[in-house]
This record gives sequence, C-alpha cells and structure tokens, in this order.
Amino acid sequence: MKIDTIAKASDKKTSQHYDFATRAIHSSYDPADEQGSLNPPIYMTSTFVGQSAEHVGDMFAGESDGHFYSRISNPTLDLLERRVADLEGAEASLATASGMGAISATLWSLVSPGDEIIVDMTLYGCTFAFMRHGLAKFGVKIKHVDMTQPHLLRAAFSQDTKIVYFETPANPNMRVIDIAAITQIAAEFDAISIVDNTYGSPYLCRPIEHGADLVIHSATKYMSGHGDVVGGLVSGTADTIQNIRLFGLKDMTGAAMSPMTAMLLMRGIKTLPLRMDRHCESAMQVAHWLDNQDQTSAIYYPGLTTSAFHHVAARQMSGFGGMIAFELNGGKPAALKFINALNLIHCAVSLGDAETLIQHPATMTHAAYSAEERVQFGISDDLIRISVGLESVSDIIADLSQAFDNINIAHK
Ligand SMILES: *Cc1c(COP(=O)(O)O)cnc(C)c1O
Repeated sequence: MKIDTIAKASDKKTSQHYDFATRAIHSSYDPADEQGSLNPPIYMTSTFVGQSAEHVGDMFAGESDGHFYSRISNPTLDLLERRVADLEGAEASLATASGMGAISATLWSLVSPGDEIIVDMTLYGCTFAFMRHGLAKFGVKIKHVDMTQPHLLRAAFSQDTKIVYFETPANPNMRVIDIAAITQIAAEFDAISIVDNTYGSPYLCRPIEHGADLVIHSATKYMSGHGDVVGGLVSGTADTIQNIRLFGLKDMTGAAMSPMTAMLLMRGIKTLPLRMDRHCESAMQVAHWLDNQDQTSAIYYPGLTTSAFHHVAARQMSGFGGMIAFELNGGKPAALKFINALNLIHCAVSLGDAETLIQHPATMTHAAYSAEERVQFGISDDLIRISVGLESVSDIIADLSQAFDNINIAHK
C-alpha cells in the first residue's frame, strides 16, 4: 500500500505556496473532490471494499494504492496527515491515537536490542517512563545528556547510538535546545534526530527546517487546542513514515486515530495561528507579571530577556509559546496552596487549551520520575507549570493576584 503516492486533484492546493495560516485551513483539500462539501467528510469506516480479490491482495503486498483497513490508513486521516506534513515542511506524516502512540510507534520501528538512544535531561513524564522503564526492559540503552551544551552530545556518542531525542521547549521546565546544533552533530554520527515539538507547534517552530529527521506531537495539546481530543502525530521522510505506519502503528502499537478525532483535529488546526499568537502574547504578559511578584523565586519563560534560553528560542521560534514554569518562595507546600487558591484557573494536566490550566509536575505529569530522578534531571518539587489560555489576560492575572493575596507566601 503506497499512501504517499495517491495523487489527488487537491494536491494543487499544496503546490501554490500559500502562507502558513492559509495552508492550515486549505492544504490538501479541494471541495470539488467531495461534492462541494466545504468540510471534508468523516469516513467512519473500519474496512474498505476492494475491486477484486487480487486488488486487495495487491494492497496488502504494497503493490497497489488505496485504503484497506483503518488501523493502517483512512481517507480522513490521510487528509489530516497531508495537511500536517505541509505545515511541518515534511514529506509525510502519520496520525496516531495519542502523543504516546506516536512516540512508541516511532521508537519501536527504529530501535533493536543493544541500540542506544541519547535523550536530553528533561522529558515529559510518560516519554521518560516509556524509554527508561519500557524500552530499557527490551535491551535498548537510554543515555541522558544535557543537550543545552551541544559539545556534551558529541562526547557522548558510542557505536551503538541510533537516535538522538529531545523536546524543545521541554516539558515542564522550559529548557530550549538548539535544534540546528544538536541535529547537525547527530547527522555527523549517522544518528536519527527526533524532536518533540508539542510545546512549539509548527506555527512557532519547524524542526525539520533546522535539520531534524522526525518531528513528534502530542496533538492533544496546541494542535487540537480545545481539550476535546487525544491524538498524536509524527512527521518526516516518506520512507521513514511508511516504516512507522506499517510496523510501529500496524503491528507494534495498533494506536490508530479515529476518523472523528482527525476531523476535530483539522478543525483545531484551522485556528492554530490565531490561537498561538494569543497564547504567546498573553504568556509574555503573565511571565512579566509573575517576574515582578515578591512571592516568586524563579520564572522559566524563554520570552523573558533574562532567560538563559532567550537567544536560542528567538533564533528558532517565531514566538515563545504559551507555557510558563515558575517557583514560589515556600516550595512545594506553597505551590499546592497557591494552586488551590485559584478560581478561574483550573488545576488540570494537559496544555494548549482555551482554558488556562495549572499543575504541579512533581506529583502529576512527571510523577513517573522517582524523587531521586527528579533531583538528577532538574524537575524541582517546587515547580508549578501553567498553560496560559485564551481568556482575557487581565482576568488570568487577576486570578493569580487574588491567589497570592489570599494565601500567605513569604515575600522576597
Ligand atoms: C502530553 C505530551 C506527550 C504525550 O502526549 P499524549 O497525547 O498525552 O499521549 C508527549 N510529549 C509532550 C511534550 C507532552 O506534553
């Protein structure tokens, strides 16, 4: 089955080099292909009827184009995948049931026992657990390197290193990794570089333009943007994506996205540029405001010129995103008290939604790390993570302000 070679009249849409915001709405779809329907149909079907027994056999053998079973491909997902590939600047994309579905399908497809994956110090909690507790159980070696120092990566390579994997900005502590510097070193050693671009979104950052081989998303977050779906995406060369589709997705995880989810995701992506502009603008204001409070002891936001990551972020991103991490005087007890004192802002994991969400990584998203691992990898027990939403920023700041006023946190 050769999905990448299915030629449609709608391909003319991608060849016209429209701007990002236009492609986020139109890419790869022509209503004329679907009876004039402004929105693409949702192909709610598990299987596909072949023209003949030989035709279905040929599709299984990869000798004929077309869809034959929705765990492998589906026209609604195909459209989403073409659109995402266009936005990421990739040859092809694959949609999966979740971000973890994309990460696990990708890595199961690319590593064998004895191979080594070099990862940054900070990883999303379940990615950390999948690698350290999952892949490691099957003989894959995981080595952590501080990738904010590219020379340390060069020194860390071994003959077994197969993959270099990092998040930027990293969840939860907002470390920003120089994508061009790291992917160039990975290429010198013939390693595959994989970037988790969940925090940036392709609107703010396109890692493939900076040399990455594969880009992964939890589409649950900014890509969907409305907190109503769980989904994942991986983008890269057509060959690699096809390998991940036909092995990691089809056989190893079965983590297929539902056509309904694909439709909701495409609806979310239409407003990605608008939403990201607002997230960036509001987060910048919230970060400055937090920075000026006597009760905060540290703010991690690359948009602040005082951030150690400001310059590298400005170089590879067109905005600094909507995520902020910060610490309060009084550590973890103060952090939990503060979260409980908020009214408008909800305590919830996930991010990138219209609603401002706040959470405590050490006990929530990063609870898969042991206490010692959190110390080793710089995820402090004091850290609070906030996903700045699309509400009026004055209401967001007013809620943070009343929480500071209503609990007794030590001043600087
Ligand atoms: C949420 C998240 C994931 C996992 O995605 P799911 O859709 O929850 O499976 C992976 N990476 C990052 C950076 C995330 O924030």
